[in-house]
Parts: sequence; structure tokens; C-alpha cells
Amino acid sequence: MSAILMDGRSLAKKVGAEVKAAVAEMTATGQAKPGLATVLIGDDPASEIYVRNKRRLCVEAGMQDLHHHLPGNVTQQQAIDLIDELAANPSVSGILVQLPVPGKINAEELLSRIPADKDIDGLTVANAGLLAQGLPGHRPCTPAGILRLLDEYKVDLEGATAVVVGRSRLVGKPMAQLLLERNATVTVAHSRTRDLDQICQSADILIAAAGVPGIITADAVRPGATVIDVGIHRDGDRLRGDVDFDAVSTIAGRLTPVPGGVGPMTIAMLLVNTLTAAQKANDVKENNVNSRIP
Ligand code: NAP
Repeated sequence: MSAILMDGRSLAKKVGAEVKAAVAEMTATGQAKPGLATVLIGDDPASEIYVRNKRRLCVEAGMQDLHHHLPGNVTQQQAIDLIDELAANPSVSGILVQLPVPGKINAEELLSRIPADKDIDGLTVANAGLLAQGLPGHRPCTPAGILRLLDEYKVDLEGATAVVVGRSRLVGKPMAQLLLERNATVTVAHSRTRDLDQICQSADILIAAAGVPGIITADAVRPGATVIDVGIHRDGDRLRGDVDFDAVSTIAGRLTPVPGGVGPMTIAMLLVNTLTAAQKANDVKENNVNSRIP
């Protein structure tokens, strides 16, 4: 293997420690702890594991765990009522609705009830619009985590050729926009793209987020390229990604492992977004108090 492994696990620990220190500083100055409200609907086992991990790391960072579990047979109105309650609750800094939700629940409608400031997943129309316009807002956690990983490994984005495979709202599209914001030259590939390998070969930075196990083979990678594997697939008792790890690791310059690459960074950025939301809410509160002082 020649590729440098990009260790998302240790960077996520470092980011978690930074968040923990910032939370301790907030509470030391009398401010409320940030509160993360995770909302799980139904009993999807994978979602339960994801939410459990997010809650554990939130507690480790010193934040309030404000979890809500609704049964799979909950009505749309009951789910809306919960989101509205969380939106109005000042102890809640951030709201995360774990996706996917059961089929009869309209996820879009639930997301639309989350105020942009509490949308720590960066999935609402408001935050997507802010990203599209290059304005400050919560960025989706997976692409934000990838950017942090690229920065940690000093991958030069300015003027670099980047190919993003996948155009989902959660990963591909915001990833492309974030790379563009950092002056990379970005191509987005998707399921109708012709000659995927040839397009990928042009990449200095290749982001694989197609959700297809092993779709990125050695033929798709330019020697020395930085390859980020977003995919997560269960293969018996192990996990694998969208990248053919063994073959690509002999060609790429840098490569994220699965597990231990992008996954931990996604949760780390959720903590960062929750902290940012809490800090912003505290600033607003302080400004309101100051504006009342003659
Ligand atoms: P998604 O919503 O299913 O989107 C997949 C995208 O890949 C779509 O845009 C699709 O194109 C494209 N695609 C599908 N087959 C393709 C092919 N053969 N060639 C080129 N493009 C193809 O998935 P997602 O939510 O973005 O997630 C992608 C993967 O990342 C999944 O494995 C998911 O589990 C994983 N993931 C990991 C993390 C993490 O923290 N590590 C976070 C989120 C997601 P069309 O638009 O044309 O259909």
C-alpha cells in the first residue's frame, strides 16, 4: 500500500475535544449547555445505532442529550407537534431528525418545521439556499467533515480538479458546493454519467458517494490522487465503502478507510454545528438583554 490513510477517527476525537473545551467554557461563564435533540421515528436497527452514537458523543462533549423516540405508528401530526415543541424550546440548540423515517411519515414536512438556526444537519431549504449562495449557515455534516479532513491533511483545494460521484442532497450536492466555494474545479457524476472511470481519472480529489459498493476501482483513480470514500455497506461482519480499497490504496496518494474515515467526521461536525447553534442563540439572547439596557 502506498496511500496515506486519512484517519477520520483520530481527527474526530480531536474535534470532539475542541467542542468539549468550548462547552466547558460556556458553562463556566454561566451559559446553558448546548442541547442536542435527536428524533428517532420507528425501530430501524441501523438508525438506532447511528442515533445512539450521536447521543453518546454529545454527552461526552458535555452537551445535553434531549432524545425523543417516537413509535413507528406515530401520526404525521404527532411528529409535527414534537418538532414544533423542540423548535420553541430554548434548551434545544439543535434538532436532528434521523433519516430515513417510516414510509407513511413525510420527512420533508418535518424538516420544513425546523428553524434554520436549529437545523444542525444543514438539510432545510433555508440552509441549502445559504450554502448555494455562499452565505453563512449550517453545512451538512458529512461534506463539512470531509472538508475538515482534507484541510487536516493539507490537501490543496485551490484550483484542484475535484470529482464528486453522487448528487444527493445529503452528500454529493453540498460537497460539490463546498469544494467550489474553496475554488476547486468541480465535476459532479451520477447514475446517468457516461464513462465514469474516465471522468474520475481527471480528479486530484475524488469523492465517492454513490452508495454502490466498490464502484471506484483502480481504473478510476489517477496516481497520487486523494480519494475520499463516503459509502458504507455491510459485507457479512465487516463494513466496506464505495472504493475498492485494496486496489486503490496502491495507486492513490491519500485514502480514507471504511470504517474510520468519513463516518466519525460526520458525527464530529454534528457536535460542531450544535455548539455553533448554541453560541449563536446565546449571542442573540445577550444582544437582546443589552439592547434593553439604556
Ligand atoms: P443516495 O441518496 O442514494 O445518492 C446516491 C447518489 O449516487 C445519487 O446521486 C446517484 O445518482 C448516484 N449514483 C448511484 N449509482 C451510481 C452509479 N452507478 N454511478 C454514478 N453515480 C451513481 O446516497 P447518499 O445519501 O448520498 O449516500 C451515499 C453513500 O454514502 C451511501 O453508501 C451512504 O450509506 C453513505 N453515507 C455515509 C455517511 C457517513 O457518515 N460515512 C453519511 C451519509 C451517507 P442519481 O442522482 O442519478 O440517482
